[in-house]
Amino acid sequence: MECSHQVKIEVLEKNETDLRLAIKGADVPLMNALRRIALAEVPSMAIAEVVMIENSSILQDEIIAHRLGLTPLKTDLDSYNLPGECECQSEFGCSLCRVTLTMDAEATEGTRTVYSGELVSENPEIVPISDKVPIIKLAKGQKLKLEAYARLGKGKNHAKWQPVAVCAYKYYPKITVPTKECDNCTKCVDICPKKVYTMKENKVEVRDLLACNLCMDCVEACPQKPPAITVEWEKNAFIMNIESTGVLPPERIIQEATKMLDKQLKEFEEQVKVEIK
Ligand SMILES: [Zn+2]
Repeated sequence: MECSHQVKIEVLEKNETDLRLAIKGADVPLMNALRRIALAEVPSMAIAEVVMIENSSILQDEIIAHRLGLTPLKTDLDSYNLPGECECQSEFGCSLCRVTLTMDAEATEGTRTVYSGELVSENPEIVPISDKVPIIKLAKGQKLKLEAYARLGKGKNHAKWQPVAVCAYKYYPKITVPTKECDNCTKCVDICPKKVYTMKENKVEVRDLLACNLCMDCVEACPQKPPAITVEWEKNAFIMNIESTGVLPPERIIQEATKMLDKQLKEFEEQVKVEIK
């Protein structure tokens, strides 16, 4: 493994849900491990069980339960345990591994849509990330009353527990446009789908290097033989994009993924030691 030197991480962009990192000194196995752990192992909160008290709508209980399950909930990883790891060891769960949400909706004055905002949580910190997720349409006189139990879970068991919408990486691009060979015909500027190039004082210039996705269209469009532009990627350098569904801040997701990888590697080390004995 070429990972003996230190990994350098630079934050390129960050807001409430998106995080873009430049990671140098890493390799593909490490990047892929982090990506897969973020998708499948970092827990988040989602409705796992629904008790229907009254449902006079036209949708079956199962469909409503499925829709509720897919509603992203704000997650608090520090206050809740995964059901399997909770001390209570109870199938029903306790206040440390379960959050109860209730809904009591009725259409009294004609047809209306019931939104996620009508879910009432026992913990004001564990609520839908948006009040505007449509759950069901009720016609006049129809009623929906239910109790739902949210738990921490992992994306590998059901996609509703996946904390990220996007978690992907690409190689760090490296582009050279030699002024001597290039006749500034602008073909590369026009063809690039990511608008990487621009013309400055009649010369081709790289405008946004990190937008490059290494599609090589610019190299193919170059009339020079061999092409004047070279597009390569830096060895052991990557750009990682993490887009959270809103359940956790993106930096927390990647921090958790790193911690989990570390824990898994330590466990593996222990196992190897046991085998050798
Ligand atoms: Zn418990």
